[in-house]
Amino acid sequence: MITAGVDIGSSSSKVVILQDGAKILSQTVIPVGAGTSGPSRAFAQALAAAQVHEDQLDYIVATGYGRRTFAAAQQQLSEITCHACGVNALLPEVRTIIDIGGQDAKAIRVHANGTVASFIMNDKCAAGTGRFLDVMSRVLEVEVGELAQLAVESKQEAAISSTCTVFAESEVISQLSLGTNQTDVAAGVIRSVVRRVAGLVKRVGLEPPIVMTGGVSLNPLAVQFMGQELHLEMQTAPDPQLTGALGAALLAARRLPKSSADG
Ligand code: ADP
Repeated sequence: MITAGVDIGSSSSKVVILQDGAKILSQTVIPVGAGTSGPSRAFAQALAAAQVHEDQLDYIVATGYGRRTFAAAQQQLSEITCHACGVNALLPEVRTIIDIGGQDAKAIRVHANGTVASFIMNDKCAAGTGRFLDVMSRVLEVEVGELAQLAVESKQEAAISSTCTVFAESEVISQLSLGTNQTDVAAGVIRSVVRRVAGLVKRVGLEPPIVMTGGVSLNPLAVQFMGQELHLEMQTAPDPQLTGALGAALLAARRLPKSSADG
């Protein structure tokens, strides 16, 4: 049996192809998401890498913000369900997932069997998401993937007081023009996002072990800062952008009925 999980986020498109609900045949990430060619390109690349023709797929589950736009999928499941399942398959001991993507952040409590116990999500305010880091990286003239490298040199994090991304961007521009070190501003912007998400996580209740997933967990300083803010050891999932797609491919293999978290 061959299944595919297609996770269409706001910033990236991810596909995992699985054999017999166990063996990963291929996985792809394309750094553009819903409303772009990203989902179909990621799907085509994953099929080619797995040497599988679309007709050979037994079941396709789509997840993520853009899941309803992927016509080839037989089922759509929420990314909450899929992240919980994907993380549980990789790290069965984990009880809390912090997922920070391009347009939202979620804290998910998971049962030992990988089902969702509870979750909380911020999809209203960009300040607690990867988007904030994308905007500030542009001002700092670095790629978002280089932000941690810049920030790690900081001796004194700049305080970012604005609670809104648009105002924070003006604040950062002003700090830089007044001579605040770039490295200190970079550390300050990472701290700002992490602090917001930590506040969200505390509301769902913390049950260790905790893992970070999503694109922002590729930033090692964000992971370190999250550990500091929560006073807990923080780990990341292997291939942390792909846990939702992995969960979708696993659930495609199991064809689980929809849970209450599914929209
Ligand atoms: P979504 O699933 O919502 O599309 P992702 O989980 O792919 O989002 O996360 C996207 C965010 O991850 C981006 O907005 C960016 O801030 C961050 N990001 C992406 N790649 C990297 C990287 N290499 N290093 C650090 N951060 C990254």
